[in-house]
Amino acid sequence: MAKRRCLFCNVALDWNDHGNRNYCNEECYDAGKKLRNIKKYRDNKAEQEGFQKVDLILKRFYELYGSDRCIPAILLDEVEMAWLIRKNEIIINGRPAIPVGLYAYNLYNNATVQIWKLQ
Ligand SMILES: [Zn+2]
Repeated sequence: MAKRRCLFCNVALDWNDHGNRNYCNEECYDAGKKLRNIKKYRDNKAEQEGFQKVDLILKRFYELYGSDRCIPAILLDEVEMAWLIRKNEIIINGRPAIPVGLYAYNLYNNATVQIWKLQ
């Protein structure tokens, strides 16, 4: 069995410590916590930026094509549309749509996309 190590400074933890201890001392615990918060902030920021980018892509295509036309998904791929960014799903005209910012879209099985502007 590998020896457990402090998650912050990597020093070997005492065998006598109880099993769920992850840090060698209070300072490392605090430093580790701070690092996790920074990482969380960075992840949130990246997610936020990704969200804004998708919103902008949807805006651009909505202005070009409106709601009535289905757009080849490959056009959105070319501007690096992040399909996975989604918070929830809503229903527009009986179909599921993914809202992002002021817009919502649906990616159909035939690789076309329809975009709606939300009120
Ligand atoms: Zn440590």
